[in-house]
Amino acid sequence: MITCPIPKNEYEKVLLAHGGGGKLTHQLIEKIFVSQFNNELLNEQNDSAVFNIENAKLAFTTDSYVVQPIFFPGGNIGELAVNGTVNDLAVAGAKPLYLSTGFIIEEGLPFEDLWKIVLSMKEAADKAGVKIVTGDTKVVERGKGDKVFINTSGIGAVYNNLYISPRNCKAGDLIILSGKIGDHGIAIMSAREGLEFETEILSDTAPLNGLVEAMINSSKNIKMMRDITRGGLSSSLNEIASSAGVGIEIEEDKIPINEQVIGACEILGLDPLYIANEGKLVAFVNPNDSEKVLNSMKNHEFGIDAEIIGEVVEDHPGRVVMKTSIGSKRIVDMISGEQLPRIC
Ligand code: MG
Repeated sequence: MITCPIPKNEYEKVLLAHGGGGKLTHQLIEKIFVSQFNNELLNEQNDSAVFNIENAKLAFTTDSYVVQPIFFPGGNIGELAVNGTVNDLAVAGAKPLYLSTGFIIEEGLPFEDLWKIVLSMKEAADKAGVKIVTGDTKVVERGKGDKVFINTSGIGAVYNNLYISPRNCKAGDLIILSGKIGDHGIAIMSAREGLEFETEILSDTAPLNGLVEAMINSSKNIKMMRDITRGGLSSSLNEIASSAGVGIEIEEDKIPINEQVIGACEILGLDPLYIANEGKLVAFVNPNDSEKVLNSMKNHEFGIDAEIIGEVVEDHPGRVVMKTSIGSKRIVDMISGEQLPRIC
């Protein structure tokens, strides 16, 4: 047997932090999965695998949802499972078409809860214009799961042979963020911690395929997109900087954040750059088209607060640097461990 590439003196067992979307997750994926499954589609490590079958260019993706609690301000695990997979297809430049869903249910889950989850999955699927066409159900003993886990996979058709990849990113490209960050993570945390705010912070869970379609119609020069989920804006930008081999510079003052999220982050000791979102994306765009793309986003319900937050630079390849509000610069590193476990 080939020796396990994660040495025992480093980590003997999987930790919760290996699911946090930061450095440990990347180590787990690279060393355990990619090293063995290794192929040119997987190695792209984009939100979806994109390939040709006959004359069709398709995108294919999968995601599992273990969010706790299963009902949270602004949504539940069901719509999250639909929107998350829709978004992974959309940011690959594809029109999402068909989804599968797998349920792992813990004995004792009230039928009323399961029904609510299924109803909101149907509503989310209708809203995104996708069909759930196949599925699976398993039930595990009480205490051997946590209410319900859901997996969704999805297939989409890539628009006009579009090629969305970090490889396209070049110095000078502008980076557009589709809206305010941190709402989803803070909604989950406040539900868990029983925090109350003047106005409730709701998850931003939303299907982004309509927004992406509007963006694609406005420009042929969208080079890269990613939905900034687990690990937050910082993880997505670091992943792109590292796979593209380019530097990224962002400006703190340009990043849209809800005042209440800033306040909650201060109370909880969290950095909004690392907090999960479920209805936001970043796009890397040729500077000549950035205004066109930005306007197309601002005219869409899920891109009203879109802003150009930075650019691709020649300096510090593989790194993300932020100009802070007070004018200094700091490296925005990928989070190492677990800031917020089971956030999606
Ligand atoms: Mg994604």
